[in-house]
Amino acid sequence: MDPVDSQLDGLLTTAQRETSLLAPYAMFSHQSLGREHPEPEHPYRGPFQRDRDRILHSSAYRRLSGKMQVFTGEMGDYHRTRLTHTQEVASIARTIARALRLNEDLVEALALFHDIGHPPYGHAGEDALDLCLSQAGGFSHNQYALTIARELEYRHVQNPGLNLTREVLFSQAFRVDKESGNESPLLEAQVVDAADSITYDAHDTDDAIKLGLVSLEEFQSLDLILHCLDRIGDGRKGLDEDSLRRAIVHELIDCQVSNVLESAGAVLNVSGWESATDAQQDPFRIAPTGILETEKKQLEEFLLDRVYHHPQLIQTREMAQEHLQRMFDLFCSKIDMLPQRFRQRADEVGLERAVGDYLAGMTDRYLENCYREQFPSL
Ligand code: MG
Repeated sequence: MDPVDSQLDGLLTTAQRETSLLAPYAMFSHQSLGREHPEPEHPYRGPFQRDRDRILHSSAYRRLSGKMQVFTGEMGDYHRTRLTHTQEVASIARTIARALRLNEDLVEALALFHDIGHPPYGHAGEDALDLCLSQAGGFSHNQYALTIARELEYRHVQNPGLNLTREVLFSQAFRVDKESGNESPLLEAQVVDAADSITYDAHDTDDAIKLGLVSLEEFQSLDLILHCLDRIGDGRKGLDEDSLRRAIVHELIDCQVSNVLESAGAVLNVSGWESATDAQQDPFRIAPTGILETEKKQLEEFLLDRVYHHPQLIQTREMAQEHLQRMFDLFCSKIDMLPQRFRQRADEVGLERAVGDYLAGMTDRYLENCYREQFPSL
């Protein structure tokens, strides 16, 4: 891709801004491999800023507000949705990227994009669709994100999809198959992965306590929570339970981000990498290290056992899987019920895949309304 040069007097070009701000191992806009369908550059928005804007303005992104992260709407309004999770990931990822002098625009685009392929009912929905599509290649939310970006979203009449840069698409392809290729993902993609895990560990702890699934006291059996209480120190005196919960969540994020910055910063400073490609040739990954890594694993095992496998969540999971399976069978047997564009899509990708793509795009509520309409007596 040609260097991005602003034609507007007095404004720095993207290339000028990036040269003064980014480290040599960052992904520079002028080194982008461009888009599948070539387009002229924008006068003052760099290619990754445009990716971010396209993702932000997509309908798949807006629908994340109606998709569950871990908890459904029946438990109240406090907890995270897939959209607020995404926004928290973007915020933490940008903090890390800025401190490591990586490309924040690319990081933000990748963060806003990373969960865009989630079907209704989160991982339960994903497992259900995977089963429905077992004869047609299965279903993965990471793969579906690529389908959204390349085929399902509308932007221009000329090209299908969002026509994102290859850096965003390649980074997402790494999420589909973590073992793919000999290279490491771009450092910007590694930052988003690290931020994703920091974010959900912190907010799932917060939501689980606030929703009463697990008590704050029970969480205090975990080393990472004790570590956070240590950091709060005397500041915890006089805090009521809500304030203490908030203080712990704050420390959970802060200690993980600090750990990632210290460990990754130390490696990057002496790496000698002169380009993003140099960094990709190295097996190094941006992630929590040392005692914190062990403490984090203990917290994640606890969350899996006590929160994600909580009887209330298992019940939702079973309900979601049953509803998706019934709706899948119904659409496959009555193709006329599909919207016109998905009937057309069935000719291109097969009926089962087209039905899966349609169902995966639904919000939790939309799926439930369809289900109640079709199966009122169940
Ligand atoms: Mg995520």
